[in-house]
Amino acid sequence: MSLKPNAKTVLEVKDLKTYFKTDAGIVKAVDGVSFTVHEGETLGIVGESGSGKSVTNLSVMRLISSPPGKIVGGEVLFEGQDILKLSETEMRSIRGDKISMIFQDPMTSLNPFLRISTQMVETIRLHNKDVSKKEALARSIEMLKLVGIPSPEKRIQSYPHQFSGGMRQRVMIAQALSCNAQVLVADEPTTALDVTIQAQILELIDKLSSQMGTAVILVTHDLGVVAGMCDVVCVMYAGRIVEKAITDDLYARPSHPYTEGLIKSVPRMDTANKNNRLFSIEGQPPNVIDLPPCCPFHPRCHKSMEVCRHAYPPIKDLGNGHEVACWLYAEEATRAKALQDAEQQEKV
Ligand code: SF4
Repeated sequence: MSLKPNAKTVLEVKDLKTYFKTDAGIVKAVDGVSFTVHEGETLGIVGESGSGKSVTNLSVMRLISSPPGKIVGGEVLFEGQDILKLSETEMRSIRGDKISMIFQDPMTSLNPFLRISTQMVETIRLHNKDVSKKEALARSIEMLKLVGIPSPEKRIQSYPHQFSGGMRQRVMIAQALSCNAQVLVADEPTTALDVTIQAQILELIDKLSSQMGTAVILVTHDLGVVAGMCDVVCVMYAGRIVEKAITDDLYARPSHPYTEGLIKSVPRMDTANKNNRLFSIEGQPPNVIDLPPCCPFHPRCHKSMEVCRHAYPPIKDLGNGHEVACWLYAEEATRAKALQDAEQQEKV
């Protein structure tokens, strides 16, 4: 699914599964996630904390700490090659070069003891051995200019603490894109920033993505950000994608009760609630340790049926690439069969 029919596929994630072994049981943090990202397109991944958004991206980057985590299944195809099969040395030539990541807090990613110039030059030369220090410095200055750092020739000699939070995030974006990355993974990149700076950083990512053709995977819990920036959205719940659609389509016809709830909980200026109360989804996200094979949203769902408590719903294509995993869209016969199978299984 893409907004641009001829856009080149850059990254394809197929049935990705990442589990964590804990004393309490197996945590299926990501359990069968699939999506495709195209050149110059922004794909948003939304969901509550613990839904598996960040683990999905850390898995794509092969940054899951093992133990306790392990990618136990699936494929991550970058330019047709499954990067899950690469050695760590081979992966290092892709990570930071072809696929880059920016995190919530730039201070955790920038070395506080080194000047920005040292860090940026080192990154560029690590991935391009033929580039001289002088050329790498010139490229770094050019990137800082592109992300809107004033007087980049001077500021590049500063240390990270000499920048504000927003400026540090700009430096991170410049660093991430300095090797012409084809995919930029942005994990809640504006959470630590104030609202006006948030808007500037998101606008910057959007502009750079269009200018450079970079595909962006944007992890966020903010549906307002998704509406403004993403071409395609994946809604995650308990380690799975429960709904996937082109952004406008998702807002026009949210089909999964969880997506409906998420959209209803976004404050809106045009539909003031008389009681001034904001909608919220009742209940808590499930404990993902040893989840039973049922719809994990059923305890919070106002449309829940008997089958929802016994079997996981199949994915239904609603047209235009809009997919939803919910029993509401299955044929009556399919629901009855699933219920019968589950009841037999439970008796065994
Ligand atoms: Fe609600 Fe059932 Fe759909 Fe789950 S499968 S979201 S419980 S209707």
